[in-house]
Amino acid sequence: MADVSSKVRATSSARRSLAQLAAEAAGCTACDLYRDATQTVFGAGPQGAPMLVVGEQPGDIEDQAGEPFVGPAGRLFDEILEEAGIDRSDLYVTNAVKHFKWVARGKRRIHQKPNASEIVACHRWLDAELDVVQPRVVVALGATAARSVLGHPVTIREVRGKVLDELDRDVGVVVTIHPSAVLRADDADRRAMRTSLADDLRLAMAAARTTGRRTG
Ligand code: SF4
Repeated sequence: MADVSSKVRATSSARRSLAQLAAEAAGCTACDLYRDATQTVFGAGPQGAPMLVVGEQPGDIEDQAGEPFVGPAGRLFDEILEEAGIDRSDLYVTNAVKHFKWVARGKRRIHQKPNASEIVACHRWLDAELDVVQPRVVVALGATAARSVLGHPVTIREVRGKVLDELDRDVGVVVTIHPSAVLRADDADRRAMRTSLADDLRLAMAAARTTGRRTG
């Protein structure tokens, strides 16, 4: 007869659907960020998507909409995907931290970077998403996402441009910049940053479509 622990393992995230995970995450209180946010913003996209893209956290618009990647950075990301020839339906998109962290400045809610303990607390949900989606490549957009995915801080310029093989699961990792960095860039830098992000996304999708995808 199965013991209690094996029954618990049998209902692990690998056996749960994305909808079940999202419903569970909606009630998450594992860190304090749920207190001031409107709602949990869980990932979106199909189970079995070849590429899973991780951003930092939902922004003001995503917090209100309850969907990831629908604000200004998300719209830019869609444009860059199109430039890279990648269909958004091939992606599962999510964030390292699933509640909006902000401070009030007048009537505005200003984004705050999640800290290390919040990233660690929320990693349970990213792990669960990886278990269910089973992507071939994970793309980490920016330093917070890279820290969550890899479990340690990295310098983006030192690790981008290759497919990393660091995870204890059969998936490659591509680290690149977050589209919000492109939005914030000077006019002189914006075009090159946009092109380099598209190049990294192409690299990731090419790796996802080949068997021997890992090069770094
Ligand atoms: S940010 Fe993540 S860990 Fe913190 S309460 Fe929200 S879902 Fe839970």
